[in-house]
Amino acid sequence: MIKINDNFHRLPATYLFTEVARRLKAYKEAHPDADIIRMGIGDVTCPICPVAVEAMVNAANEQGNAATFHGYGPEQGYQWLRQAIVDGDYRSRGIHMDIDEIFVSDGAKSDTGNIGDILSADCRVAVTDPVYPVYVDTNVMAGRAGNLTDGKWSRIDYLPCTAANSFVPALPVDNPDVIYLCYPNNPTGTTLTRRQLAEWVEYAKAHNALILFDSAYEAYISSSDVPHSIYEIDGAREVAIEFRSFSKTAGFTGLRCGYTVVPKELKGIAADGTEVSLNHLWLRRQSTKFNGASYVVQRAAEALYTQQGRTQIAETIAYYMRNAKVLREGLSSAGFEVWGGIDAPYIWLRTPGGLSSWEFFDLLLDRCRVAGTPGCGFGPSGEGYFRLTAFGRYEDTIRAVERINSLSI
Ligand SMILES: *Cc1c(COP(=O)(O)O)cnc(C)c1O
Repeated sequence: MIKINDNFHRLPATYLFTEVARRLKAYKEAHPDADIIRMGIGDVTCPICPVAVEAMVNAANEQGNAATFHGYGPEQGYQWLRQAIVDGDYRSRGIHMDIDEIFVSDGAKSDTGNIGDILSADCRVAVTDPVYPVYVDTNVMAGRAGNLTDGKWSRIDYLPCTAANSFVPALPVDNPDVIYLCYPNNPTGTTLTRRQLAEWVEYAKAHNALILFDSAYEAYISSSDVPHSIYEIDGAREVAIEFRSFSKTAGFTGLRCGYTVVPKELKGIAADGTEVSLNHLWLRRQSTKFNGASYVVQRAAEALYTQQGRTQIAETIAYYMRNAKVLREGLSSAGFEVWGGIDAPYIWLRTPGGLSSWEFFDLLLDRCRVAGTPGCGFGPSGEGYFRLTAFGRYEDTIRAVERINSLSI
């Protein structure tokens, strides 16, 4: 038989969402008429905005005509989309970005997962805890994680984010080479202020670390002291790669489009001591393993940067953030301790009465017929917490809050 990559074999089964699905199925079988409100999945529910749909219809028609047909596009993305990104997401905030620093892709999950291809297998990795599982699992696959004991990988530095530190991670003590930061955060819905993020940039500079900054939820920011891009911080171009996605911004979870920014100042060192541009390495990686996002989808993404596109996206985000407000205020007044929901579509709550995350999952399902996500599924420091999302329908969100309020904790 063929030998497999043993790193994959070391990964535990994806427990969280399969276990959620298993418990939901069992509950439905026992209570066939139960009207369950799903507040757990991290997927959006609102449709794609009209300007993006119109752009796709036009692009699809172009593809059906020999005179306007597009085959393989540039691996890094079409120039017109990268220009729209540079102007719309960076120049508009006073940040200079060259279009060669933008890499359009099929989403941030692939890019945050693949970026490790250009880094040494020896690199020490730090993650905030709880965390988006992709960062940890892809490093396990690359052989960087060591051994798993008590829910932690021996070569990964976990930076706890709990109520005790107001979900602001302390700077690492173990000198990691690579630090994943995701702000606004999934799952906690919390943010870092400009000053707090500046400390991480300073730390990375002083310790030669690389920050991998995931800003998939940037469009949900409402607070003025929360940066939309890490490049709002002086010096970040020398230490950070930024990942963006149209998934949560514009409902592209099923269309697939995002982009990654690799500034030209970023340098790595080869085993023979040569300094190498990370931008060149990522271009090499992408042009070898990736053939570009689809033309039709890139046209849809481009349309988001028009005046109409911006207005239409903002309406959908406002819809979700109204849900977030209902959740945050409703649950607080019911006596829950809640975080998030101001600059992110996630509400993170402390489970009442010292219940474990899974005990609260079962209680909420049984007594309220509301399904959420147990915090422990995102890492050891998520135990005793629970995530609800604002991505549902408004009416369902209201009903869910009413039911949870009747729990009388
Ligand atoms: C949803 C999400 C993404 C987006 O992934 P896509 O592959 O672009 O859909 C990235 N990072 C985090 C933390 C997310 O929650």
